[in-house]
Amino acid sequence: MTTSSEPIIHRVGLGTDIHRLVPDRPLVLGGVAIDHPAGLAGHSDADAVLHAVTDAVLGAAGLPDIGELFSDRDPANRDADSATFLRQAVRLAEARGYRAACADVVIQAELPMLSRHKPAIRARIAKLLGLAEDRVSIKAKTGEGLDAVGRGEAIACLAIVGLTHRDAGARSTA
Ligand code: MG
Repeated sequence: MTTSSEPIIHRVGLGTDIHRLVPDRPLVLGGVAIDHPAGLAGHSDADAVLHAVTDAVLGAAGLPDIGELFSDRDPANRDADSATFLRQAVRLAEARGYRAACADVVIQAELPMLSRHKPAIRARIAKLLGLAEDRVSIKAKTGEGLDAVGRGEAIACLAIVGLTHRDAGARSTA
């Protein structure tokens, strides 16, 4: 039996997303509005970071993916704040007994430079997941001039979320 306060991770989920950068759209990454001449195209606010984190939560909990739960054909989701998707994913996971334990997020963007935005994105994602900030990691990478990210045509994100279960150690996989 562990004496550490570190939660036991019972499930992990992976989420990825990519959205095209287009002029004259607000840029929202990780729930944080970022001043930039281009934003991400999409039906909702197109926050590729929150979409990846949402899919990671859903995947870890064995739930349907973001596209199945929050259709981009649903008019209700037009220009939606993607935080609503993540909050709902957290609620659905909690209904299955899971809560977030940690998140590791890699944002891939040539521009804007994200280093100064990382603390705000970390704080926002931690709040949405109900976590202390030190359980959330935000990394920003460029595309080194290669591929759609590298050419500045898109912003992508990879996220892994670990979930712990309220019946720690007692949950059967049967
Ligand atoms: Mg998306």
